[in-house]
Order: sequence, then C-alpha cells, then structure tokens
Amino acid sequence: MVLLSLFKNVKCKESCGMDLVEKNNFNIFLGLLGDHGEWILSMWNWRKVFSRLGTEEQCIQFAEERELLPREKTCWRHRRNMSVSRASGEIGKFRCYKSNCRTKSESRAIGTWFEGARLSLTLIFQIMYAFSEGLSYTQTKKECSTDDTVLSARTIADWFSYCRETIVIYELENQENRPKIGGPGKIVQIDESKCGKRKYNRGRHIEGRHIEGHWVIGMIEDGNDDLRLEVCPDNERSAEVLVPLIQKHVQEGSIIHTDYWRAYMSLPEYGYIHRRVNHSDPTHRFVAPDGTHTQRIESQWRGLKKAFRQQQHKHDFTDWLCEYSWRRRIRINHMDPYEELLKAIKHVYRL
Ligand SMILES: [Zn+2]
Repeated sequence: MVLLSLFKNVKCKESCGMDLVEKNNFNIFLGLLGDHGEWILSMWNWRKVFSRLGTEEQCIQFAEERELLPREKTCWRHRRNMSVSRASGEIGKFRCYKSNCRTKSESRAIGTWFEGARLSLTLIFQIMYAFSEGLSYTQTKKECSTDDTVLSARTIADWFSYCRETIVIYELENQENRPKIGGPGKIVQIDESKCGKRKYNRGRHIEGRHIEGHWVIGMIEDGNDDLRLEVCPDNERSAEVLVPLIQKHVQEGSIIHTDYWRAYMSLPEYGYIHRRVNHSDPTHRFVAPDGTHTQRIESQWRGLKKAFRQQQHKHDFTDWLCEYSWRRRIRINHMDPYEELLKAIKHVYRL
C-alpha cells in the first residue's frame, strides 16, 4: 500500500486511463474475487447487447452518446447549426432552413461508421459485438439471425472486414504514440519466426499455391508484456530489414538477447548491448553460460502460430498481425473487447 501511494494520480498507461492506485486496488479486489469478479459483470455480453441495443432508438441514442453519430453540424453557407429531422428509429438528416438551403438535406450517417449501411443499427451493433468476441461467421449468423432475418455470410464478412480495417488503422496510429520498450540496463529478447510455413510432406502440394510463410520479428522486454511484432518487409530477415525494425521499437542502450542469427551481429554499432544464446551448443542450447536466453519471445510464437492456423479465412497478413496484437493486448489487460472496438471506431471515424 505504501508503494501504491507513490503512484497517486498517475494514470494507467494502458488505454483504460484509470488512476493507477485505483487500478491496483481494483486488481487486488479482482484477485480476491477470482475469475468471477465484478469486472465480469461490467463487461458486455449478448444479454446486454440485446437489452441495451435492442431497438433502433436505443442504438441511435447510444451512437450519439459514444460519439459515433454527430448531434450537430454547421451549415457553412449560413454559419449556423442545422437541425436534425428524423422519425423515430431513423438516423435522420441535417437540414438548414435558410433560403436556398431549404430544399437540401444531408444524412447524419455521412462520414460516420454508419455511412452507406444497409443493415439496421441493431444488427450492426450485434455484428460488431460478434467480431469483438472473435466469433466465426457461422456463430455470428446463429447469434444475430431472427425469425425473419438471416444474415448472409457475405454481410458478416463485409462488416468484419470494416471492423478489422478500423482496428488496423487504430493500431498503426497508436503504435506511433507508444513509447519504445527497453532502455539502459533493461533486457529485450528478440527473435524472428516464420508464420504459415507449410511442410512439403504434409497435405497436398498444389502447383502455384505453395504457401511460403511470412517472417515476423518479435521483441519483448523482461518483466513487461508489451509484445512488439512486425512483418519483415520483402519477407527477408537480413540486418538491413531487422535493424530498422529494432530501432523503431527498442530504446538505445538496451541489452538485447538474440540467438546466433548473423543479422543481429551489427547491433552494437547501433548503441545496443548484445548478448547471444547459441542454439547449436549441445550443453547450453537454451540458456547461455552467462544466463542469456530468448525463451520468453520464443514462447510467444506458439500462440501466434496457433491463432494463424485457426483463422478461418485468409486475410492480408499484416492486417491479421495487427488484429492479433490488438486481441492479445485486450486479453492480457483484461479489457472489454467491445468497448475497445467502440473506442477504435470513435477514433478512426472522428466526428
Ligand atoms: Zn444553410
């Protein structure tokens, strides 16, 4: 508690923005409650989606509250606020009632997440929830269909890809604001791995459809779960490719642990302290005599490869990796995926 009070008024760096003391107390509280704590109650589930976002009117109100739909807009010709005209359950239109503007109106959905949508808002919010929970198309179809509406796989695929696009933009923009990991005296483990490589002797090898796989570099600091992943440009793992990616994410002066891959040899020239573990050394295969190891970053590849194999539809690999990082951060920090998706949409479709 003495320690915690040092952090008074310090906001949590993770996007929750909670006061750190509060957050720590809250986490201790959660620890006592185990897996069935209050935080579960505060999270979105299907029941809440149906009860809070069950009608178009509720959805419109919610969209306004969450700043996904504008409440006002200025007519630039007359420099005055336009009024919203709408029937119950409709998104509505902006209208200016001055002189020659009188005949014109503009949908409130223009420029928003809902622009051009041909689905009801209730369905859109349901599909968004399904995406945030990582549901398959079939599961989504099952959850969101009613007696008179059956969602097509095409519609689900479209909305899932809008959600994914949003996450990718959000992740890339936020990445630039995230501080680098490591620093003087801190250890950062770095490794590269090929995602999606198929063995020749497994399955049918179809001419021209051999999947080569994608090289990914991963970086993680000891004592910190903030994993940095990057797809290697041109699918190469040369020093020319890897060093700039390391410089992008890892502070100068960090102690970098890698294996014996030659591309890492030049790291000391860039202000890093470099230690290596030789995986071909039979007596010190996993931990070097000086204690250097890369086991934490290597253990990250299992989760990544498993998720890659389990994806049901092939997406652009870079986008997929962004989505993976987003979901991983949400899981590790016990955040609510639906709230995080809403946050991303609000950010990308700023009013
Ligand atoms: Zn006007």
